[in-house]
Amino acid sequence: AHDTTTAPLAFSFEANPSPRSTEEVAEILANPGFGNHFTDHMVQIDWTVENGWADARVIPYGPLILDPASSVLHYGQEIFEGLKVYRHADGSIWTFRPDQNAERLQRSAARLALPQLAVADFVESVRQIVKADERWVPSAPDTSLYLRPFTIANETFLGVRSAHKASYLVIASPAGAYFTGGIKPISIWLSTEYSRAGRGGTGAAKCGGNYAASLLPQEEAYRNGCAQVMFLDGETGTRIDELGGMNVFFVRNDKTVVTPELTGSILEGITRASIIQLLQDRGYTVEERAIGIDEWRAGEADGTITEVFACGTAAVITPIGQLKSHDFTIGSENSEPGEVTMSIREELTDIQYGRREDRHGWMVRV
Ligand code: PMP
Repeated sequence: AHDTTTAPLAFSFEANPSPRSTEEVAEILANPGFGNHFTDHMVQIDWTVENGWADARVIPYGPLILDPASSVLHYGQEIFEGLKVYRHADGSIWTFRPDQNAERLQRSAARLALPQLAVADFVESVRQIVKADERWVPSAPDTSLYLRPFTIANETFLGVRSAHKASYLVIASPAGAYFTGGIKPISIWLSTEYSRAGRGGTGAAKCGGNYAASLLPQEEAYRNGCAQVMFLDGETGTRIDELGGMNVFFVRNDKTVVTPELTGSILEGITRASIIQLLQDRGYTVEERAIGIDEWRAGEADGTITEVFACGTAAVITPIGQLKSHDFTIGSENSEPGEVTMSIREELTDIQYGRREDRHGWMVRV
């Protein structure tokens, strides 16, 4: 792994000479969807093995010029993050635990043999993009500006080894309310044929390759009327790992909540960690341990498991109504969202949108 920077990087700023008009931005923010529209600027910082990180800059948003022999295009040496920027009622702009995304990007970098960016430089890059594109932070309920920091290997070289050149970028995209017309439990599809991660693999890293491998099972989920795919551990195929883009929780009737432990094969979700804290604050016992499909099925049948939900930055918390597979179904399609699920969801979004006291100091003003 490569060293992090020592001194904080200073950012230069080049304004976009033809930014989107006020009317265009208003029109986009009225109905942003997810991942469709991008702001006027982006951040870029370049890295070389000789000189480390340099040339931190905010520049006009636009296509990259990549040599076709760039390593990322051949060997997939890429990592990314996802975090949201929230506008509070008084107009102020905040992010949620950006240091956690910074640290996870460092862990992903270590696994993918990419350079690590210092936490302070990551957080500053978030400030810089938000400062440049402040008018793109929407204010309607449950909307946000989604940030996508990522690092690519861009050395022009076809040898199979970690690249000697890389770039870190941040792009920003306004995001609409995830659920329009109320929060309804989703159906999820159990992938029995495909794994997401193996022992010693990259499951805990947020790297593009993990998502490339999840697209085929995700299509199978869609074909079977499910919103997400659930993966079992790659070693035994018995333990529940996580969903294609979310972690999972099981609420029991004895004030205990179970979530799969961090084994190195699942993503260490920041929403997951925050929910564990909020549940413990309420006096719940949170068990991070192995849980299998059999335990879910038995708990559903005898009523010990009362709620199941998924969590992640994009949708925050989503109730899970049923698990479907080729052979069986657990739960039912028309269930109601659970009480714990909905109240934890409310508490977390209240903190994020500044409607409730931030007692853990999670919010960082931009
Ligand atoms: N698991 C996977 C595979 C994901 O892609 C995500 C989204 N980043 C999560 C879990 C949830 O992580 P977070 O709460 O940090 O968004």
